[in-house]
Amino acid sequence: MLKKIAVAICCCYLTACATSPTGRSQFIYMPDAQINQMGLQAFDNLKTEKPISKSTQYTEFVNCITQAITYETGGDWEVVVFEDDSLNAFALPGNKIGVHTGLIQMVDNKDQLAAVIGHEVGHVLARHSNERLSQKTAVSQGVALISAVSAPTSALGQLAVSSLGIGAQYGIILPFSRTHESEADIIGLELMAKAGFDPRESINLWQKMDQAKQGQQPAEFLSTHPSHDTRIKELSEHIPHAMPFYQHAHSIGKIPRCTK
Ligand SMILES: [Zn+2]
Repeated sequence: MLKKIAVAICCCYLTACATSPTGRSQFIYMPDAQINQMGLQAFDNLKTEKPISKSTQYTEFVNCITQAITYETGGDWEVVVFEDDSLNAFALPGNKIGVHTGLIQMVDNKDQLAAVIGHEVGHVLARHSNERLSQKTAVSQGVALISAVSAPTSALGQLAVSSLGIGAQYGIILPFSRTHESEADIIGLELMAKAGFDPRESINLWQKMDQAKQGQQPAEFLSTHPSHDTRIKELSEHIPHAMPFYQHAHSIGKIPRCTK
């Protein structure tokens, strides 16, 4: 055991490793402050490029769910509802969340939208953007990446927006890996349950996403968050671990009353 710890310390010292919230070793060396700056810049750009929904009904619904979920993570989070028919939602480093009206229309209930938001927040908490960028860039590019976010047609800009998980908005697809998807699912499931949302609805949500893929509305979300065959199986396996959090939340009166 001690030997293992010594090896771990040695490797972390020589490279740059971190541990994700699920206990996975990560190779991360970009400064979080720079990644957060990239997220803030990207969010500012999206807010000027895309129409923001004027629906108070939708905004209140999304705010209600986001507040309940981010209460479990701490920190200040901002959420914006974008007027866009595509099925999409995203969360950026720096604690920024975007939800498209198309997704709000698709979900049957608060729990299904909480599953998407929990999943997205999971990507941020596990620092997946930083991990992707650390694999592909040198630390010296950090500052250049922040300004590159505003030029998504340049090579560095493409890398920046796609690593943040919003490449699909600019026609650039960089899907999250299966490891990142599974991790975001596990974190998201626990978060939604702790906030008092029914984790079983995550299964219905992913089934609906898969069906939507065949239909009229573009399931933009699936291009960057590929739905693997194993996802529903893995979620089903984790639901029994999440249920006690959900039951506890309800027993102490944490029942989010968010209505569409
Ligand atoms: Zn994902």
